[in-house]
Amino acid sequence: VFNFSAGPAMLPHDVMVWAKDEFLNWRDSGSSVMEVSHRGKDFREVAAEAEQDLRDLLAVPDNYHVLFTHGGGRGQFAAVPLNLSAADQTSLHLVTGSWSKGAVSEASKFNHAKVVGEVAEKDGLRYVPKPAFDESMADAAYYHFCPNETVDGIEFNWLPESGDVPLVADMSSTILSRPLNIKDYGVIYAGAQKNIGPSGLSVVIVRDDLVGKARQETPSIFDYALLAESDSMYNTPPTFSWYLAGLVFKWLKGQGGLSVIDKRNEEKANLLYAEINNTGFYRSNVHPDNRSRMNVPFQLANPELDNLFLEQAEQAGLMALKGHRFVGGMRASIYNAMPINGVVALVEFMQEFERTHG
Ligand code: PLP
Repeated sequence: VFNFSAGPAMLPHDVMVWAKDEFLNWRDSGSSVMEVSHRGKDFREVAAEAEQDLRDLLAVPDNYHVLFTHGGGRGQFAAVPLNLSAADQTSLHLVTGSWSKGAVSEASKFNHAKVVGEVAEKDGLRYVPKPAFDESMADAAYYHFCPNETVDGIEFNWLPESGDVPLVADMSSTILSRPLNIKDYGVIYAGAQKNIGPSGLSVVIVRDDLVGKARQETPSIFDYALLAESDSMYNTPPTFSWYLAGLVFKWLKGQGGLSVIDKRNEEKANLLYAEINNTGFYRSNVHPDNRSRMNVPFQLANPELDNLFLEQAEQAGLMALKGHRFVGGMRASIYNAMPINGVVALVEFMQEFERTHG
């Protein structure tokens, strides 16, 4: 079975086997990792090692904090404005799909959220124009964008021009899919349930000059300074998710790190888009410049075949291909854990389905 869920998404098979092997007896403790204190020596070791492995994978510079916290991606939609802006300040937003739009509505509860660029159409397809930056934007508190839109399947690999305004990126569905230059960002955050581990955990990478500026009314569990001072243990962290994320980081290192993963992701996405582009039986409504490597929505030219496609795909062991309810059609999420064989199986199924119904 290959699981194409957008999230919570499949995890590397090796990781699931490692976790299964120690599920009831972790480190010979006779207990599960879920059942021990987060403040105990053993869990602290796991937590510190996970942080170090993540730092190694992404080459996180020393002047950045790595926080392991709660509240998923949406939690950060609120935590970012509370930590980075005063109520009378402006936040800039590039809106490229439903998640970056969601970030605007949450931010506008806390500051003056201003949309400075939006997804547009080119050749009848959705694409992301580069927004202009001008002096009127220079005193904004931060500039938020989402380099990979999970629902819409829109990705871009450039940075919006932002002068000295810190960039804040929602990388929930793209983190760890390629190497990054962390120095380009003020804050990177991600809900874990795609490329990191189980849901319940969010990872925040924040430059140290942006820590310690939270508004007085910021809930303590969202305050970056408190989280940083307490090694993300101000309150009880999601210990199992953190432990499992640590196994995923070990797995990624074992695969050869992010440059190897990057090539593999490129190869997987190319295979699938080649099939979508092939004959017109399948379609993408996203411009080739902005097609996501992680979430691949596609439509059948004849939508009456959608249900049959999904039914037969499931029979062939290809699960969770139904598109998001806002978008319809199909969506194949092919995060790091999806092996190339999974994409090959999907492509072969698509070819066979076209032969019999085209
Ligand atoms: N941002 C992006 C890009 C997402 O894909 C998601 C969830 O899928 C979220 C934010 C929201 O994350 P959560 O459900 O963890 O709050």
